[in-house]
Amino acid sequence: MTRVLVLNSGSSSVKYRLFDGRRTLARGLVERIGEDGGDAADHAAALRRIMESVDLDGLAVVGHRVVHGGTEFDSATLIDDDVAAVIERLIPLAPLHNPAALSGITVARKLLPEVAQVAVFDTAFHRTIEPAGITYAMDAALAERWGVRRYGMHGTSHAYVSRRTAALLGLAPEAANIITLHLGNGASACAVRGGRSVATSMGMAPQQGLVMGTRSGDIDPTVIFHLHRAAGMPVDEIEHSLTRAAGLLGLTGDNDMRAVQRRRQQGDPAAGLAFDVYCRRIKEYVGAYLAVLGRADAIAFTAGVGENSPEVRAAALSGLDGLGIAVDRHRNEQIAPNERGEQVVSPDGSPTAICVVPTDEELEIAQQSVAALGAGQSAR
Ligand code: ADP
Repeated sequence: MTRVLVLNSGSSSVKYRLFDGRRTLARGLVERIGEDGGDAADHAAALRRIMESVDLDGLAVVGHRVVHGGTEFDSATLIDDDVAAVIERLIPLAPLHNPAALSGITVARKLLPEVAQVAVFDTAFHRTIEPAGITYAMDAALAERWGVRRYGMHGTSHAYVSRRTAALLGLAPEAANIITLHLGNGASACAVRGGRSVATSMGMAPQQGLVMGTRSGDIDPTVIFHLHRAAGMPVDEIEHSLTRAAGLLGLTGDNDMRAVQRRRQQGDPAAGLAFDVYCRRIKEYVGAYLAVLGRADAIAFTAGVGENSPEVRAAALSGLDGLGIAVDRHRNEQIAPNERGEQVVSPDGSPTAICVVPTDEELEIAQQSVAALGAGQSAR
């Protein structure tokens, strides 16, 4: 078995998990980095703490989650100085995410110089989408000059969940058409044909597509021009509003779907509307991706909301019986999941199976890191 340390460095936190093969040996979170009374003064101190607290004996590779790989990376990549420089160059595309990943990489390379480091990109899985699926219809030269196009995110989750869904249904991955719905704080949909992403809802940044905890998802870009001109809001303020104060939070004051559902049950109209907007957006993307794929063997729900909310699953797919899509009311309560928490929740014999498949991005990062390490060694 191979020991892998997975690091997910955010702007103010570092999540870590130590694997031995598929088994988790240790996991934890260093939070409020840089804050008064936080767990660590900076990323270097956070990583030092992690490395002191886990047993790094026999560690083969460190896998780093990196949100944005631009057009440069289409798979997990062994990190050297050049790769680190490209990740740095991509910061303008992901100013909120890539700097933290980069500091995690820099510090880990310094602290563990003998251990191979791999970058696993959220965007990489979507590099298989054809040009027509990633091109925004705008001034082509301007878009080219500034890297403006769809990249898509949550790739490690969509890759993992689509593969697990095929396995759950006993389908060969290369023959399966699957729509994956990652519904966490961030949310995105993905159409997967034969194990390759062919469409996804997030865009240049994690802002486009589905309604999220605090992000708007799809809006008309005119909203931004209007708020700037008519309301006199500076661009930074509009960005903050649409990324941190929108989505469920903007519509209800709560970014947590559990709270929204509770209030909806109690008859709160704002929560009712937010739930409907959230579920309708999912349905619109399911329809679009059915059209992209031609047919779907399965629709898989994952992440916090997808795994835990029978209400959202039922509402998002309601009224689609004519398309061969139906949720079994009893199964949807997840009475009998397998040991991984996976379950089919559609009636037997449905043309499109509806599944609940818990995601495990860290395990996927660990496995991709080991694969990249093996590929790197055999290339040498
Ligand atoms: P992250 O994107 O941060 O990894 P998660 O995948 O943990 O987020 O998802 C967080 C979301 O899942 C929150 O909005 C939370 O309300 C929602 N959630 C968790 N449990 C439930 C539940 N039982 N019912 C509805 N939503 C839930």
